[in-house]
Amino acid sequence: MTDLTRLTIADARDRLKAREFSAVELTTSYLGAIDAANGALNAYVVVTADKALDMAKASDERLGAGKAGALEGIPLGVKDLFATEGVHTQAASHVLDGFKPKYESTVTQNLWNEGAVMLGKLNMDEFAMGSSNESSYYGPVVNPWKAEGSDEKLVPGGSSGGSAAAVAAYLCAGATATDTGGSIRQPAAFTGTVGIKPTYGRCSRWGIAAYASSLDQAGPIARDVRDAAILLKSMASVDAKDTTSVDLPVPDYEASLGQSLKGMKIGIPKEYRIEGLPPEIEKLWAEGMAWLKDAGAEIVDISLPHTKYALPAYYIVAPAEASSNLARYDGVRYGLRVDGKDIADMYEKTRAAGFGEEVKRRIMVGTYVLSAGYYDAYYLKAQKVRTLIKRDFETVFHAGVDAILAPITPSSAFAIGDKELAADPVKMYLQDVFTITVNMAGLPGISVPAGLDGKGLPLGLQLIGKPFEEETLFKTAHVIEQAAGTFSPKKWW
Ligand code: GLN
Repeated sequence: MTDLTRLTIADARDRLKAREFSAVELTTSYLGAIDAANGALNAYVVVTADKALDMAKASDERLGAGKAGALEGIPLGVKDLFATEGVHTQAASHVLDGFKPKYESTVTQNLWNEGAVMLGKLNMDEFAMGSSNESSYYGPVVNPWKAEGSDEKLVPGGSSGGSAAAVAAYLCAGATATDTGGSIRQPAAFTGTVGIKPTYGRCSRWGIAAYASSLDQAGPIARDVRDAAILLKSMASVDAKDTTSVDLPVPDYEASLGQSLKGMKIGIPKEYRIEGLPPEIEKLWAEGMAWLKDAGAEIVDISLPHTKYALPAYYIVAPAEASSNLARYDGVRYGLRVDGKDIADMYEKTRAAGFGEEVKRRIMVGTYVLSAGYYDAYYLKAQKVRTLIKRDFETVFHAGVDAILAPITPSSAFAIGDKELAADPVKMYLQDVFTITVNMAGLPGISVPAGLDGKGLPLGLQLIGKPFEEETLFKTAHVIEQAAGTFSPKKWW
C-alpha cells in the first residue's frame, strides 16, 4: 500500500471522499510517522494521539453520511502559539508551564469546523522570537534536510520551525504557523515547503499568544501551493473577537491556480540586491523572473527606497509591543509560579525563571524604547519609518505593479549552534532582512521553493502582493512551482 503520509492535502481530500481509505487509517499513518521521527527531529512538543483518532472517527462518520467539510479527515499540526482547548499551549516557553486553555483559537476552530484532525502541538522559538527555532524551551528542531555529504544538523528556520520541519518530513499534511517578521516564510524556504503570510487582518489573531500585535498574522505552511491555498481558505475569517480582522469575503484561493499571468506586472526591487547576496540566490532570482516572463508577465524594475530602515525599525516596534504583551506572564493566573517573599518578589522570580534569554533581551529592549524620554526618539520614529515603508509599496502598486518578486533568505539553512550567529544576536536579526518589510506594511507575502543550492539545500523565492490579493500570490507562486518542481528531503531520521 502507498504511504498515505506522502499524499498532498488535495489528493488525500479527494481520495477520502472517494472512500479509498479512511480518515482513521490516514491519521494512524501520521501518528506512526511521528512516533518514528520525533526523537530525531523534535518537531512536536506534544502529540495528541487519542484526540486525533477521535476526530478522525468523527470524520469517517461525516464522510459516510456525505457531510464532509472542506478539510474532512486531514491531519494537521498546530504551532504551540495557538490556544487549543484542554491541550498543552505554552508558546514553547517555561513561563506557561502546564497551561491548558479553556478556549480554542479562532483559526484552529475554523479548521476543526471544516473537519481537520489535530495531531499535536508543534515546536517553535519561544514566544515566536527567533529565526532558527533554537530559543525553544523544548530544544531546537532539526531540519529534515542535510547538506550533501554532510551529517551536520541544520536549523529549520524560525520561529515556526516545528511547523516547517513537520510538513517537510511528512509528519503532518499541513500546519498552522504565524509570521511577525518572517516566521512563516523563512522556515518554509529552509525546508522546501510553501508558506504564506496573508494580509494583516485576513486571519483572526484571537487565541494566538501575542508577540507584536500590530505585526502578528497567522497562515499555513504546506507541501505545495495548492495545499497552502486550501488551508488559508479555511483559516481566514472575520471575527468579532479580533477587531483587526477584516470583513471581506474569503475567496476560493484554489481556483486562482492555473490562471494566466498575461498582462501582469512583476516588480523587481533594486534595494533587495544587498551586498554579499550569494550568487546562487542572485541566479535563482533571475530564473524566477524568466519563468514569470515566459508565463506572460512583464518584469519591471522598481525602487522601495526605505527598505534599509525596515530591520532597525522592526527591532524597535516588535520588542516594544512584546514587552507590553508579555507583562501578563506574572505567575498569578496561569503557568509557572516561583514563590517569593512578597508579590513583587514572586513576579520577579517567576519571570526570571520562566523566560529564556532571547525573550528577556526583547523585553528589556522594548521597555527601554518605550520609557519616558526615549519614546519619541525610538518608538515614535520607528512608527514614522513604518509609514514610509508602507508608502513605498503603495507607490509601486499605484504605478501598476501587481506583485513583487524578491529573495526570501540571505542563505540556505545554517547549522544548529552556528557560532557566528549565536555570538551576536544582531547577526541573527539580519536573517529577516527580506521578510520584515512585508509585516511592517501589513502586506501578504508567500515563500515558494525555487531550487536547490550547491549543497543540495532548498532555496525559496518570495512574492509580495497588494492588500487582500492573496489570489495573485497563489497563481504567480504556482507558475514558479510548475517551473521549479517540488522538493523533499532524503529520509535519514
Ligand atoms: N525572526 C523575527 C523575530 O525574531 C521574526 C519572528 C516572527 O515572525 N515571529 O522577531
